[in-house]
Amino acid sequence: MDFLQPTTWVDAITAKAERPDAVAIAGGTDLMVGLNFGERPPAVLLDLTGVVEMTEWVREDGAIRIGAGVPYARIIAELAGDTPALAMASRTVGSPQIRNRATVAGNLGTASPAGDAHPPLLATGAVVEAASVRGRRLIPIDEFFLGVKRNALAADELILAVRVPVAAGPQQFAKIGTRNSMVIAVCSVAVALDMAARSVGTGIGSAAPTPRRAPDAESFAVANLPWASGGALDDEVAREFGARVAAAAAPIDDVRGSEAYRRRALAVLARRALTWAWADVGGAR
Ligand SMILES: Cc1cc2nc3c(=O)[nH]c(=O)nc-3n(C[C@H](O)[C@H](O)[C@H](O)COP(=O)(O)OP(=O)(O)OC[C@H]3O[C@@H](n4cnc5c(N)ncnc54)[C@H](O)[C@@H]3O)c2cc1C
Repeated sequence: MDFLQPTTWVDAITAKAERPDAVAIAGGTDLMVGLNFGERPPAVLLDLTGVVEMTEWVREDGAIRIGAGVPYARIIAELAGDTPALAMASRTVGSPQIRNRATVAGNLGTASPAGDAHPPLLATGAVVEAASVRGRRLIPIDEFFLGVKRNALAADELILAVRVPVAAGPQQFAKIGTRNSMVIAVCSVAVALDMAARSVGTGIGSAAPTPRRAPDAESFAVANLPWASGGALDDEVAREFGARVAAAAAPIDDVRGSEAYRRRALAVLARRALTWAWADVGGAR
């Protein structure tokens, strides 16, 4: 196996252009599991951990541009105020050891329906910044997930960063698993409120072939939240929001949970997430 270790992103995309069969490795917490299970080793590993430009985040044009090499531990420690739902989801990933190494870019690279970063990225309207020797392009998160473990990256592209809009209101993330930690989601939900735009974003995980939004639930919440008064959220509105989130899913029966359980759990998680988020609106007044 060839092992390439670029130190600049230009060298990284040049290497990827010259060796399109090269497989990127960031934290290695997905990739190394596969190799240890005897998956056919790639001919070339492209180690991105030495690419300094990928290791930082910056505030830019109303968003936080999170370099592809920034691990979950730093998102939790440094970005909980600006990207609360992503930070909440990051706290639920694996263990401290995993969170010290693993990255959002690696989660996107794997593009598992169960990836915990995906619902908050969908709810907040994040954008994936991809690059190749042909140039850079911005992929809206809605267009990134193409199927089970399939994403919109071309063979010669790498993720340079993920741009997450700075929170403009309360956000929540809720995940259910078969135990409290070190667990793949049975299902998960993220909710993001934008108080200025009076919009509501959603993201659903582990309940369809890809992570997805629940557009009907979003427009229902926009029409029924008491934006002007900031008064209490009607229980019926929260319940109906949950039902519409569950209706947007297309879950399956598998070892982690049944289709029926996932739908029921999604409705409950979404109802709670909206209720908690709206309670934070009141708290801020
Ligand atoms: C014990 C354990 C617990 C876990 N718990 C969770 C959990 O609770 N929730 C969860 O969502 N996941 C979990 N995972 C899975 C994993 O930690 C996450 O998916 C993580 O985000 C992967 O990031 P990484 O940097 O380690 O990716 P890597 O393993 O380095 O890479 C993953 C994939 O992304 C590609 N890739 C990486 N960086 C780039 C880039 N810059 N451009 C293009 N492609 C790239 C790689 O080629 C590979 O295909 C767990 C894993 C383990 C081993």
